[in-house]
Amino acid sequence: MSREDYEVIIGLEVHSELSTKTKIFCSCPTGFGAEPNTHVCPICTAMPGTLPVLNEKVVEYAVKAGLATNCEIARQSKNDRKNYFYPDLPKSYQISQYDKPLCEHGYVNIDVDGKEKKIGITRIHIEEDAGKLNHDDLQGGALVDLNRAGVPLIEIVSEPDIRSSKEAEEYLKKIKSILEYIEVSDCKMEEGSLRADVNVSVRKKGETKLGTRTETKNMNSFRSIVREIDYEVERQIEVLENGGTIEQETLRWDDVSGKTFPMRNKENADDYRYFPDPDLVAINLSEEYIENIKNNLPELPESRKKRYLEEYKLSRKRC
Ligand code: ADP
Ligand code: ZN
Ligand code: MG
Repeated sequence: MSREDYEVIIGLEVHSELSTKTKIFCSCPTGFGAEPNTHVCPICTAMPGTLPVLNEKVVEYAVKAGLATNCEIARQSKNDRKNYFYPDLPKSYQISQYDKPLCEHGYVNIDVDGKEKKIGITRIHIEEDAGKLNHDDLQGGALVDLNRAGVPLIEIVSEPDIRSSKEAEEYLKKIKSILEYIEVSDCKMEEGSLRADVNVSVRKKGETKLGTRTETKNMNSFRSIVREIDYEVERQIEVLENGGTIEQETLRWDDVSGKTFPMRNKENADDYRYFPDPDLVAINLSEEYIENIKNNLPELPESRKKRYLEEYKLSRKRC
């Protein structure tokens, strides 16, 4: 069998930091690049007895993103705790959304060889970012900076509809341009405000079941995403061609060697012990609230392009 006998399947989980002035559950500022641990308070450093209060702007921005990507907006939603231990996560749980995300069942259109292709969006949910570990060369340890802890994120999960590194790039460009256009995120990839977990699998052409995927975490440039996918596809095909099987694992991309490396075996949702956060009330959105956001969305790039094509009788090639 050769490379051409395989089909590539890709799904992206895009994390985007929202450009609200304050964090998701406290009033600390969100700005990038401040001195370590200056944008912190008892809430985002998880002092005992503190309680989170949801920033209304975060919901508004996420609903905007959902409407701009053709999602259904949930009238009722909630926050859940995702439990895991890591030094950049002071509460030992991340407040996220599990079974009732704010937005579901959307799509965006991407351009593939001059044709439009629909990429499904499974869901968009809101969650808090974690802090950052800075490795200390002098002491050989790591220093924790919690400025980023509690910065609001949306996670946009795509369906496994992407079929090549080129399509993945087009999809990510599309998401980036939409988020920039509706002004919910500055999408600065070099500052980590747009980053993606890249899920890749391969299967023999004609096969209907999906192959086992690997997930490469925290990719933050278009170039490395394309390189990572191309590398991972070749690697997986080679393993299968040699009679091996693909392990479901979480990988790390190394830009210098141009290779992926195992980080850990993939957790299942069960491992996170998700449960509704009892410190937060449910999120109930009225029809008027959603309508109001819808009516105030700007005309999106795609619809403007279509309108210009029709109004001015332009050919697709020129725009
Ligand atoms: P998790 O949170 O465990 O990573 P999700 O269900 O949220 O899992 O989905 C992860 C992503 O993986 C989605 O974008 C989905 O489209 C993609 N995906 C799922 N199965 C496959 C597969 N077999 N090959 C490639 N991508 C996949
Ligand atoms: Zn704070
Ligand atoms: Mg994932």
